[in-house]
Amino acid sequence: MPFSIYDTRQRRKVPFETIEPGKVKMYTCGPTVYKDATIGNFRTYIFEDLLRRTLKYLGYQVMQVMNITDVDDKTINEAKLTGKPLNEITKPVIEQFFRDIDLLNIERVEYYPLATQHVHEMIELIEKLLRSGNAYRMDDSIYFSITSFPEYGKLSGMKLNKLKCGVRIDADEYEKDDSRDFALWKGWTEDDGDVGWDSPFGRGRPGWHIECSALSRKYLGEEFDLHTGGVDNIFPHHENEIAQSVAATGKSYAQHWMHSAHLMVDGEKMSKSLGNVFTLTDLLNKGNSVRALRYVLMATYYRHQLNFTNEAVSVANSSLKRLDTLYQAAKLASGSGAVRYLIQEKLEITRDDFKSSLTDDLNISEALAALFKLVTNVHQAIGETALNRNEGIAIMDFWMDVDRVLGFLVSKETAFPDDIALLIRERISLRCNRMFEKADRFRDELAKKGFHLEDTSDGTVVIWQGGRKIIK
Ligand code: AMP
Ligand code: ZN
Repeated sequence: MPFSIYDTRQRRKVPFETIEPGKVKMYTCGPTVYKDATIGNFRTYIFEDLLRRTLKYLGYQVMQVMNITDVDDKTINEAKLTGKPLNEITKPVIEQFFRDIDLLNIERVEYYPLATQHVHEMIELIEKLLRSGNAYRMDDSIYFSITSFPEYGKLSGMKLNKLKCGVRIDADEYEKDDSRDFALWKGWTEDDGDVGWDSPFGRGRPGWHIECSALSRKYLGEEFDLHTGGVDNIFPHHENEIAQSVAATGKSYAQHWMHSAHLMVDGEKMSKSLGNVFTLTDLLNKGNSVRALRYVLMATYYRHQLNFTNEAVSVANSSLKRLDTLYQAAKLASGSGAVRYLIQEKLEITRDDFKSSLTDDLNISEALAALFKLVTNVHQAIGETALNRNEGIAIMDFWMDVDRVLGFLVSKETAFPDDIALLIRERISLRCNRMFEKADRFRDELAKKGFHLEDTSDGTVVIWQGGRKIIK
């Protein structure tokens, strides 16, 4: 079944084509690890998870890279504000990021390279740009000259006469109105503290944009199939990535570009000043289930803004309940008999509808509508004659098959394991006896098993795939 996607650069739906048949090399901009990821970030990561799982469902072999920005303006600023070394800022945020993606059932990608481990590759690319005449030195920094790259602005649709040529910007992030020559390498200043690398251009640190050009080149090659991110990445980040990579290599860089629209909270932009920035932990602490949150984050077409409200979570819960009725009925089915033609036919039609909706630029609303229709149809059939065991198995197989894409239908074991509860109680008594080091080791061991503990005045809060629980 051909897959069509909305390509940001071409501004239309196009057939998805890969360089090597059946294989997809995909690059995804990852988190800047100065503060815990918000559910806004997770909206984009869930879109990318849906995309990855759909590609696999359609039979592609996927190789995906998600970078982790552990050095940039924001991380350095946070280190300065808190007086901590950079890695003390980034390490716990990275750990929390992986905990959150596992809880949200976001599939791990093949590579998560850290920026700080790849400065050498970035320096190499900057040297190439200096040699090709696309970059120049000013004081202790190196800048990309946007006028040296006539295609600059094509991705974001920006007019070249709006560009302030030869005027420089040092910040990693800036608005379209401020498009200028951007920093590839930032010469060391006192604000950088002990963050810096020696390079042929002197001591300094890379700009943010060069990171993704260097990492995609290293892990995927100079030309690859698909690049994704949130819409805020289009300008300047992705525009700058294209300029750097194409200018340095002469190759066409990513063949396709896809971007997801933003998550809003109660109709407003998520921002710290409005106090409506939520992390996954915040939402779980409010009693929401990860399953419902995954549903909410996935169920709106990725190019539409997603309005996150309590009501949206309640709707997700009722939708899941309705979908669960079919799996429950299938589980309870008993008695002999072949799968009736009517049921077999409905399953086949639903599979086709589900698949064809996803191949239409990940039309998740239609894909889910096909499942709801199946639930109604099977319930009607059951109303007349109960499901037999073979029919139950066919439905469960079908459910597990489509759940390879959705990842929220068949919930992982939700009962809380007794042995884990025992371990947590044992840890509580260790803490009562002030044996904190041993208690911390217990906590780390449990985290590896997917049970994340937080000590509160009410008791130990445990967050795991199945929900949240307090143990006293
Ligand atoms: P950052 O950690 O800010 O570099 O962002 C990581 C990813 O999250 C990028 O792909 C952003 O485009 C995306 N992102 C940031 N804020 C939002 C939001 N409110 N809604 C959806 N995606 C977002
Ligand atoms: Zn990036």
